Amino acid sequence: MLIFKEKQVLAEYLRRQQDSGRVIGFVPTMGAIHEGHLSLVAAAKGPADVVVCSIFVNPTQFNDPEDLKKYPVDTAEDIRKLTGAGTDILFLPSVPEIYPQGLAALEEYPFGPLETVLEGAFRPGHFQGVGQVMDRLLRIIRPDLLFMGRKDYQQTLIISKLIDISSIKTKLVICPVLREENGLAMSSRNARLSPGTRRKAALIHETLQYIKSRYQNTAFDKLLKEGKGRLEAAGFNTEYLVITDGELTPAESFRDGKLVCLVAVWADGVRLIDNMILT
Ligand code: AMP
Repeated sequence: MLIFKEKQVLAEYLRRQQDSGRVIGFVPTMGAIHEGHLSLVAAAKGPADVVVCSIFVNPTQFNDPEDLKKYPVDTAEDIRKLTGAGTDILFLPSVPEIYPQGLAALEEYPFGPLETVLEGAFRPGHFQGVGQVMDRLLRIIRPDLLFMGRKDYQQTLIISKLIDISSIKTKLVICPVLREENGLAMSSRNARLSPGTRRKAALIHETLQYIKSRYQNTAFDKLLKEGKGRLEAAGFNTEYLVITDGELTPAESFRDGKLVCLVAVWADGVRLIDNMILT
């Protein structure tokens, strides 16, 4: 695996690859690499000739400075895992490499209501930060294919919108949620859970499955109240548990079209999100 720290050098290398007809696949991450990330690398390896991963803990998407400070970093281990998975190139930029003008007065993106609901409501400014970093990474790497996880459902909608409103030409490939054996969605933040809470957090996925098994014949408000009750009884503080259409507009009752159940809870001072497509 080749490691690049400078955007200019990486961009020149990748342009040469593209000029000789190679398809570039890109997997952006914030490091603390786990099987979920590696599943994106595996998905990229099929259609892409060159798989590029990035590790960049983007300061502009953290609305909570404590969360940024506590974000797990183990670059040596990440390099080992990404190499093992067959990643061709790792982009490992510094903060000034991505934000040479500093972090103040950055561009704003017209994401509309998408950035003020659910994750956007509880993490103000988060999606502007995601837009700022992804716009930069996509302009440097110019991937033919971009691989992202459905685990961050709302983020996939934001990136799709970013691709639409900018002149970036890339195809977004959304990959399934990888889970631990007990159903907990894999996340870099899981490492901060106590072993007991990590076991108990299986309830998040169980709640989504419970809702999926009943949404066709139970009133949504009753079902969601029941789900919240189970999570709260187990000691999880629920920020939201909702059923929406594919674009995150709240859905009131069973009908045709895409329905998604999305959840965010706090456990052991760690914020966990998950979702399940119901239809
Ligand atoms: P992160 O490092 O958390 O920013 O995640 C980088 C990419 O990996 C994003 O596209 C995430 O959606 C994806 N990802 C994170 N966790 C999982 C998972 N459990 N299954 C599939 N993709 C994931």
